[in-house]
Amino acid sequence: MEDFINRALGQGGHLSKLVKGYSPRAPQILISTKVGNALLQGRHLLAEAGTGTGKSLGYLIPAAQWAVANNKTVVICTHTIPLMTQIVNEELPRVEQILKMEKKNLRYQLVKGKSHYVCNTKLEALWQETLRGANEESKIVQRIFKKVNQERIGDRTGLGFDVEDSLWNKISASSCPAITKPDSCLLEELKEKMQKSHIIVTNHAYFFSDLIMRKKTGNGSLPAYEAVIFDEAHEIEDVCCNIFEKQVDINRFETLFEYLFKRESFSALDHGTQLDLTQMRQNIEKKLDDLYTKVGRSMENNAFKLMDEKIDVGDVCQALTEFIERVRSLNIRGISDLLDRLFEGNDDLDFIGDKEKKSWGYWVTVRGRGKVTLHAAPLFPKVVLSFGLFDKVPVILTSATISTNGTFSFFAGRVGVKDYDSVMVGSPFDYENKTMIICPEDAPDPDSQEFIPYTIEALKEILMYSGGRMLVLFTSFDTMNQVAKKFQQHCIDYGYSLLTQYSGCDREKIIYQLKTDSRTIVFGCSSFWTGVDVAGNALTTLVIPKLPFPMPNEPLIQAQLELIEKAKRSSFFDFMFPKMMIKLKQGFGRLNRSIHCQGAVIILDNRIRTKRYGKMVIKSLPKCKYSGTLEDMIHILPV
Ligand code: SF4
Repeated sequence: MEDFINRALGQGGHLSKLVKGYSPRAPQILISTKVGNALLQGRHLLAEAGTGTGKSLGYLIPAAQWAVANNKTVVICTHTIPLMTQIVNEELPRVEQILKMEKKNLRYQLVKGKSHYVCNTKLEALWQETLRGANEESKIVQRIFKKVNQERIGDRTGLGFDVEDSLWNKISASSCPAITKPDSCLLEELKEKMQKSHIIVTNHAYFFSDLIMRKKTGNGSLPAYEAVIFDEAHEIEDVCCNIFEKQVDINRFETLFEYLFKRESFSALDHGTQLDLTQMRQNIEKKLDDLYTKVGRSMENNAFKLMDEKIDVGDVCQALTEFIERVRSLNIRGISDLLDRLFEGNDDLDFIGDKEKKSWGYWVTVRGRGKVTLHAAPLFPKVVLSFGLFDKVPVILTSATISTNGTFSFFAGRVGVKDYDSVMVGSPFDYENKTMIICPEDAPDPDSQEFIPYTIEALKEILMYSGGRMLVLFTSFDTMNQVAKKFQQHCIDYGYSLLTQYSGCDREKIIYQLKTDSRTIVFGCSSFWTGVDVAGNALTTLVIPKLPFPMPNEPLIQAQLELIEKAKRSSFFDFMFPKMMIKLKQGFGRLNRSIHCQGAVIILDNRIRTKRYGKMVIKSLPKCKYSGTLEDMIHILPV
């Protein structure tokens, strides 16, 4: 493997024949070698590589070589679409060429959720219907039909033109009503391609959904795989816990009953049986209603509440079980999917009501006019990944930010990986000369009333020095909107565009404006802390008003804190601080995306100065210039 990596990435190697001006990067070769060895020895690997290392190509090269040489399948999971696109459109074609130079043939496939693909049966029916139509929708249907039938492109983004959601929902393969699958089915084609692939690229969410199915039934929609590589691994904790979350409300059962009683084969039952089943259904619905009303009453106007004790669901679950068994005994055709879903709903309700697992969080939410939902989710991925993933295949977890305080123990403990190899390589960027961290000496306490007015005034001063090219990362939408409201007029007065993130906004459009219009300021929250990739001088100033500690008012966070405190450990040092550091490092990384980047990171949170852990925060970030005065940013901004 090491010889191959040298032939691929070394001086005068294969890559140098494909990339003009290529020169080998020692950190990238180190990552490659570690990944190659982990795969050969069947070991888990945690790999942290600073921005600019070229880590994705670094792991793809040994993964492809290992998979082709041994006829194995490696799944690569990313969190963001830009990284997934980069891997599939730029890096894997390059790796394919490298392997060709070794006379080897690499096959790879991108896989997304079913809703991203066209259902040929639905498309054909709509095409027939719209054949004579001349409106815009008919024209789009004709275009899609042509693409699918002439070029076999059935992935929504692969079509190359926009399709409105309303039309896409009519033709997407998200729900498949077929019992036997026709040869023309694109999902079947995709399945075949997956079976033959050495590398499958997908996202974290799809991988974990597949893992749930695999744990339940022994099979998933992905083919069998022999290794997994998680890129952007700092995201897997949230994604995994969300995907494994169980949620049960009344609607879930009512909708399933509705569908079931409307199925043709169900209506064909004799009158007596139908009456009998209807009575059973009414009985269940009454019990569900009583249960949810009682839970709702206990909420005392709270939007959510951790469940402190078990909920008595035994009666409802028993009635549901009897109904399912009765219907199963009737051998009715074409309803097994609905019965399975009813069974699953019952199972989830039983699981939540029981509240047995200590490492799960259980809570209730109320939305709108009394819509009560019961929830349960693992408190950390370890609960669901130790068995079913880490005990089955070697897993490589990589990111620019998974270590805290120079070790992987916090991250490894939470995801549940034991007995692993590790590698840490820094970024090749010259932070010491090109980045300045500023923590203003006059900043007030971030929880004080003065903090928002101070932030607004500080932003005005920062803008005066930076002239735009600025990203401000907030920790709450509420604070962001309050600041934006007051800062907006200042931006208008001085000819700047202030773009603020909102739910459902087009993130890529906002980032594009930051890249192309220097007089832009972007206010972002949540997802803007990761994945914003603006290289060069288009972004020179990053402002972080508050350190990104997890919000203790979220149910899962509250449940985590309770669990840690019960174990007599420090919820601050064992949870809040390391979580904050991982997110801060992600946010910090937005400034330096290439060797040409230069600028200031301004942290307005005075806890860096006043708290003992402040020094640890600075120590965990790359070594930069440091100042306590905003004005000093003029010494680092590019001219
Ligand atoms: S098998 Fe299902 S997804 Fe495939 S074409 Fe038929 S209905 Fe559509």
